[in-house]
Amino acid sequence: MGRAFVYVILGGGVAAGYAALEFTRKGVSPGELCIISEEPVAPYERPALSKGFLLPESPARLPSFHTCVGANEERLTPKWYKEHGIELVLGTRVKSVDVRRKKLLTATGETISYKILLIATGARALKLEEFGVDGSEAENVCYLRDLADANGLVNVMQSCSSGNAVVIGGGYIGMECAASLAINKINVTLVFPEVHCMARLFTPKIASYYEEYYQSKGVKFVKGTVLTSFEFDSSGKVMAVNLRDGSQLPADLVVVGIGIRPNTSLFEGQLTLEKGGIKVNGKMQTSNDSVYAVGDVAAFPVKLFGETRRLEHVDSARKSAKHAVAAIMEPKKSGEFDYLPFFYSRVFGLSWQFYGDNVGEAVHFGDYSSGTFGAYWISKGHLVGSFLEGGTKEEYEAIAKATSLKPPVEDLAELGQQGLNFALTISKKPQPALPIEVIRSTSGLVLEKPVYAWHAAAGLVLTASIAGFAYWYGRRRRRW
Ligand code: FAD
Repeated sequence: MGRAFVYVILGGGVAAGYAALEFTRKGVSPGELCIISEEPVAPYERPALSKGFLLPESPARLPSFHTCVGANEERLTPKWYKEHGIELVLGTRVKSVDVRRKKLLTATGETISYKILLIATGARALKLEEFGVDGSEAENVCYLRDLADANGLVNVMQSCSSGNAVVIGGGYIGMECAASLAINKINVTLVFPEVHCMARLFTPKIASYYEEYYQSKGVKFVKGTVLTSFEFDSSGKVMAVNLRDGSQLPADLVVVGIGIRPNTSLFEGQLTLEKGGIKVNGKMQTSNDSVYAVGDVAAFPVKLFGETRRLEHVDSARKSAKHAVAAIMEPKKSGEFDYLPFFYSRVFGLSWQFYGDNVGEAVHFGDYSSGTFGAYWISKGHLVGSFLEGGTKEEYEAIAKATSLKPPVEDLAELGQQGLNFALTISKKPQPALPIEVIRSTSGLVLEKPVYAWHAAAGLVLTASIAGFAYWYGRRRRRW
């Protein structure tokens, strides 16, 4: 015999914390909800691990960054869960799930049953071994996905002050770790196979700005090659990394950030999977009526783009969790998840935000030497994505709103010249309730209108809150 709950959240990360808060707001009763997590601590704001957690002075430590402080909400400490009658089953891996019988089996041998299951298992860091390189177990080879990884990284970092670090991977984990290591006065070389950093998002022009900035902070870049093997000392520590281009880099510390894989394995053969994640509908409900999925593990319909996406960003984890709980607790009141993809990063004194999709043609704007610049992405004649570095509250709100409206754009050169004014103008325009054909701006830019007006109405609150939250993040120099 095991325990039984009405609601079980499987996974104890960002989405779990935001879901728990929403469950209490929707009136969950004490004893009805349980969170099972492999991690030994209550849900926390994972982005802190590559930012405030790695600072040399006054680093962020729990309990300061438990969810939901990242969205300016309550900080849910273990005491909060207790007070709300929410069972936290921590340090406990779920090793199998039977969705037909509505039961989970933990690694400690307990069976936990549920009426409704919310999957929030997130993702795991890809290991070097999956790319044919051995050595992940060496004590100075670090990954960064959870608190244990972050503690390990801090320990190694502190033992190699002024030493050499090699960061493998030029995505956001690699970039944020490289910046943090440099701030800790470690000599950093960033190695990645692409031609520039953040290749999945940045254009070459945007990337060159950040690369030059990093170089000014002493970070070196080795591009277009990959790690092939390590050199170890007699104690098994890595001393150097060998690259495919034949070069060798000395290393006191290696940080690996080569991507993640959603934790879907418990559900393979039981739930429909798509895009590497668990497929859900607009209510975050999986192919089994009693099972919902949120956060990094969920592949959900992004209305704005008319297709299913799986996102690996904290804002999506928070909002999808909230939406799923609303759909579970108030099914009649809740509509389809209408989400504008948003993510951000902060490194050194820099801070950028991105909304939408980076497909189609990129149009750069702003003065790249002034520290405030950006890009729009235009696909099939419409604005679909916006990137901004160093913006103000109003500017971030404007690009968020403009992106959610998907306005038509005909003249890309003109758009580049207008730059932020384009988004500012669009965002200030009252959005008509009924579709109208075309608005021609004084500049000649065609700002056809709201065939997407419904987005304006429905998305207004959403985008305002996204941008408000984003601004709050960016300007207050948050550490998570
Ligand atoms: P997670 O937060 O990963 O939580 C998953 C939880 O499930 C974990 O506690 C895990 O232990 C548990 N779990 C998994 N399998 C099992 C099992 N079988 N049994 C029990 N428990 C299980 N995003 C941004 O937009 N901006 C950023 O700046 C940013 N920075 C980041 C920095 C770092 C270092 C990392 C790692 C991520 C960052 N992200 C950022 C991404 C963001 O943190 C994730 O998108 C978010 O954490 C996803 O939330 P989640 O709840 O889906 O998964």
